[in-house]
Amino acid sequence: MTFGIDDLPVRNELRGKSPYGAPQLDVPVRLNTNENPYPLPEPLVERIAERVREVARDLNRYPDRDAVELRTRLAEYLTDTSGHEVGLANVWAANGSNEVIQQLLQTFGGPGRTAIGFEPSYSMHALIARGTGTGWIPGPRNEDFTIDVEEAVRAIASHRPDVVFVTTPNNPTGNAVPPETVLALYEAAQAAKPSMVVVDEAYIEFSHGDSLLPLLEGRPNLVVSRTMSKAFGAAGLRLGYLAAHPAVVDAVQLVRLPYHLSAVTQATALAALEHTDTLLGYVEQLKAERDRLVTELRALGFEVVESDANFVQFGRFDGAGGSHAAWQKILDRGVLVRDNGIPGWLRVSAGTPQENDAFLDAVRELKKEQSA
Ligand SMILES: *Cc1c(COP(=O)(O)O)cnc(C)c1O
Repeated sequence: MTFGIDDLPVRNELRGKSPYGAPQLDVPVRLNTNENPYPLPEPLVERIAERVREVARDLNRYPDRDAVELRTRLAEYLTDTSGHEVGLANVWAANGSNEVIQQLLQTFGGPGRTAIGFEPSYSMHALIARGTGTGWIPGPRNEDFTIDVEEAVRAIASHRPDVVFVTTPNNPTGNAVPPETVLALYEAAQAAKPSMVVVDEAYIEFSHGDSLLPLLEGRPNLVVSRTMSKAFGAAGLRLGYLAAHPAVVDAVQLVRLPYHLSAVTQATALAALEHTDTLLGYVEQLKAERDRLVTELRALGFEVVESDANFVQFGRFDGAGGSHAAWQKILDRGVLVRDNGIPGWLRVSAGTPQENDAFLDAVRELKKEQSA
């Protein structure tokens, strides 16, 4: 018998749990983690090297603790793309939006407090809640993966959570949440507690619709979280950020580690922001490919959730073996998609046109097999 986690004096709520992680398999076509398939363009790679070389000379010093230049550029990006005026004081940045969410839960959740999310949704919200000692409340969602406003408002009124998560466009289902729904949830959350409402817009650049940033006006308990992991094609960079009332930015500084954002991270993110136009050009290509996946999957007879993200939720696989057997058959043809454990459904990230063709070939064969 080997000595394991449960032999250590770990916190009770961590016993028997497994860490978050999609399988990382060595497969020709990997469409399982919603990454951007396009590597950073060469001129940007050069610019990153240049900016990192500049800061390397000062790595004997701690970085700018407040990341002022980076937050200023992020605020400009948000203002330019949403038409809603956002300034330095409204923006906070951290190592991925997962760290932003962790800081929010450390600030507004914690032991004796609770957070709610409407499931299925991004499972990290619940996992970070657990890691911060925040109680998790799985909220309801309709069969078609939309949020039932009445049910959701009822859940908020009865549980009175301290933090409400709304992911739009939602992961893993891809559908966007209408602004009226977010407003209704915000009102309910204020009436119940008042509590913080965190809108996770990790995929908003891929949406047919607009960002909910304008809703920040006059709503100090609303937070919009963003990331450079998806649209900017920089998952490896680890840069997430939020926009909110300046008081929220002050509040999260009570829990952030000093100098949490390295000088190398700040320099790299600044270089990427200089190339926003090129990177958003890739986003346009991915949106077209996403729409093509939706159309072709439907033409093949699959059920497909309307997608505003860079991935598509499709099904249904209710036959023998269910979605897991279908996942394996697609994998046998060299294409890795995601089985999120939602019975009957699988999720595929939009890749390059060639990768999407390989995926469509695989599911076409699967369909033939099923009807044979
Ligand atoms: C991918 C994803 C994130 C991004 O997390 P990072 O830590 O910024 O890489 C955040 N929220 C959702 C819903 C996601 O799917």
